[in-house]
Amino acid sequence: MTLDLWLKAHSYLRPLADLSAQVDRAAAGIDVPEARIPDWEDYREDFFAGVPLLSSTAAVDLEPGGRMAEALLERLASGTSSGRLAAETRALDTELRRVPQVSRRIADFLLGDETLRPPFPGLLRYLAWTATARFLRPVVKAFDGWRDEERWRRRYCPTCGSLPAMAQLVGTDPGRLRLLSCGCCGTRWQFRRIGCPFCERADAHHLSAIVIEGEKYLRIDYCQSCRAYLKTYNGEGSEPLYLADWTSLHLDIIARDRGLKRLATSLYEL
Ligand SMILES: [Zn+2]
Ligand SMILES: [Zn+2]
Repeated sequence: MTLDLWLKAHSYLRPLADLSAQVDRAAAGIDVPEARIPDWEDYREDFFAGVPLLSSTAAVDLEPGGRMAEALLERLASGTSSGRLAAETRALDTELRRVPQVSRRIADFLLGDETLRPPFPGLLRYLAWTATARFLRPVVKAFDGWRDEERWRRRYCPTCGSLPAMAQLVGTDPGRLRLLSCGCCGTRWQFRRIGCPFCERADAHHLSAIVIEGEKYLRIDYCQSCRAYLKTYNGEGSEPLYLADWTSLHLDIIARDRGLKRLATSLYEL
């Protein structure tokens, strides 16, 4: 599936596609500082204890990601375009220029520090994660190679600690796996095939799936116990498209109409 075909079939996603393309284009023009790969032996104990990599003292410093976020914001704010994105990035850029050590503060903000109170927090989170995910890419890759999936299997991202934005089913039975996908840093990790990743009920009979007409590869899994749902990509090969979260916004609307709760971390609450 290509993005063009997807947008032909889901024309209501165009505004989001345009926004995402504009931000990605601006981000692609920013130099990516080299990230230090952690010494995995220093992190091992924290990993076993369930501490996400970026919250560990052995971790990578995210400050260069904060610097990239600053540069991205500046780029988006400096254009002459009008419209909501331009207006909001300008307001955000102006406000953040007044903050001392802003790159550090942005990095802390991404990891849950609530002392930075920007005017458009959802927009800052989206832009800053877009930039920081680029900085972190080699670290996420190295971490994938080192991590023993059997020893994690937690409901939150092993790299940044966010709740999964989506799930993916891969492989064929009996070895079929459920991966959870982080919408922030881009990590994918293994989780139990059965069970709710939000309230962590492990039994199967509390789980249901909503099949969406016309969507061969996407469905909504939800938990009858806590009413949380998780969008699931039931396929392989088109991960960047199907796991982008915004590309399946219509599923969020269907879930909401059925009274289900989104507990997944979202970068698209702009
Ligand atoms: Zn993550
Ligand atoms: Zn649940």
